[in-house]
Amino acid sequence: MSAIDNLTGTETCWDMTESRHVVDAIARTMPIIRFGLDGTVLFANDRYLNIFGMDAVDVIGRHHSVFIRPHEAASAGYAMFWNTLRTGRSMQSEFCRVGKDGREVWLQATYMTIGDPVGEPREILKIAQDVTNAREHAADHQSMLEAISRSTAIIEFALDGTILSANAHYLAITGYTEFAIRGRHHRMFLTPEDAHDPSYDRFWERLRRGEFIRSEFRRIGSDGRPIWLQASYNPILDANGKPTRIVKIATDITESVELHNETTRHAFSDALTAVANRRRFNMTLVDEIRRAARTGNDLSLILVDIDYFKTFNDTYGHQQGDACLKAVANAIRGVVRRASDLVARFGGEEFAVLLPNATTRTAAIVAENIRAAIEALQVEHPDPSKAVLTVSAGYASLGSERLTTDLLATDLIERADRALYRAKAAGRNRVSGEARVMPQSLVKTVPNASKPVT
Ligand code: GH3
Ligand code: MG
Ligand code: MG
Repeated sequence: MSAIDNLTGTETCWDMTESRHVVDAIARTMPIIRFGLDGTVLFANDRYLNIFGMDAVDVIGRHHSVFIRPHEAASAGYAMFWNTLRTGRSMQSEFCRVGKDGREVWLQATYMTIGDPVGEPREILKIAQDVTNAREHAADHQSMLEAISRSTAIIEFALDGTILSANAHYLAITGYTEFAIRGRHHRMFLTPEDAHDPSYDRFWERLRRGEFIRSEFRRIGSDGRPIWLQASYNPILDANGKPTRIVKIATDITESVELHNETTRHAFSDALTAVANRRRFNMTLVDEIRRAARTGNDLSLILVDIDYFKTFNDTYGHQQGDACLKAVANAIRGVVRRASDLVARFGGEEFAVLLPNATTRTAAIVAENIRAAIEALQVEHPDPSKAVLTVSAGYASLGSERLTTDLLATDLIERADRALYRAKAAGRNRVSGEARVMPQSLVKTVPNASKPVT
């Protein structure tokens, strides 16, 4: 049997003479120490002594127990350890020992029994490696992970998106128990729309390729409420660089996102009526004009103005006037239902309705519906000539044939405003639009506009 086999194996008894040169070679590069069968130190090289901060005089002739804590030296396990070595068995493990100054030393070590030429055990050779730093590093690493785990939410997925585990923080944020989520798919945290979006499959494909993805994500908690996470999805790679699982590290930013949304809502909505304010209208108009230019779709605008509102205010007072403005805004909102449409307060008692992807014909119908809805509110008006509060409306559209020219937002507003003026001039409580396809001479306004006129 070769000495090299014995270095790593668990075979018994080296032949001392045969192995001497091997031991010498090892001693030149590694910390070694030799013991008698009773545990008395026979020899320790400088590398070994340095680990413990000891000199040869501190250890030679003394028992191995100088390197361990007294209570351990007195234990049954320790006695057994030496008994086992004396039978000729090797021991390989990480051992905790004590240096001269009392500090902990960790050794990765192999104890081997060396035999005489006939194989009778004679002494114990120990080859060691100081792994204290590595262990401290690992402990550092571990406490770092624990610190991260305490302050952030962590969840682990298989490559197909199956949930493997989640820490308490993640469970607290989402409101689930680990039992309720383990083995299920990540899509359980998504809205159905998000889960069915093609980008969701692509998201997992990217992770499976080993891509790291970091962003803000909207998720849904166990109570159905939206949760906002600032999160990174980290593919964990094996030794060959192949992704084996995905670890997601997240922080809950729901509060700040909601605060931001709330602030944005305030910055862009009218305080009195809660519809969009003029600022939001201007921004949306520019966006929608650009979009219409891109898609070639129509874009329509309706301007709605309350008739004789000054008289209303002067008679009933400002507070009643404000209540009336709210009622009008709500009535308009009730008519304009498409998510892409925008109702805004354009000025004092004037509202704007932006209708993306709506033709002049549609705008005419919506405008008339608004007029009728407000008349139907039956809000009393002080003017004896008009029984109830009414509005007039003007509308205009950007048609695709005009989008090739460089139209400005102000142009659309001006045309809707001119149409509104015509509705006012024609007697109020009516709608008027621009007849883009008809010659100007044919443009009429019809009194008593129960149907839209162009
Ligand atoms: P017209 O039919 O020509 O539109 O007549 P009008 O009286 O509605 O128009 P005018 O521009 O002369 O008066 C608009 C009035 O709207 C003036 C003001 O008293 C009222 N108004 C504007 N903003 C507010 C507001 O925020 N609250 C209240 N209560 N009234 C407002
Ligand atoms: Mg008015
Ligand atoms: Mg006005």
